[in-house]
Amino acid sequence: MNRHRWCSPERPSVYETVRACKKCGVLRITRHDQLGRGFPWIEWVDADGVVIDTRLTPHCNGVSPAEPQGVAGL
Ligand SMILES: [Zn+2]
Repeated sequence: MNRHRWCSPERPSVYETVRACKKCGVLRITRHDQLGRGFPWIEWVDADGVVIDTRLTPHCNGVSPAEPQGVAGL
């Protein structure tokens, strides 16, 4: 199972928290409610800037260069 590896979250505004996956480049954007009603929601944006239409975490299809593989000498 491929899991995203998130960078440290950034807060470009008080209304959103953005995390980028180091492996596949997907952005996980938490939208904080701007009108004081409802709940925050999450948008997934792929590396091309296209919003992924899902309410579930998309699979990570990136490679993990930092993942120890037990292979030496490459
Ligand atoms: Zn990923």
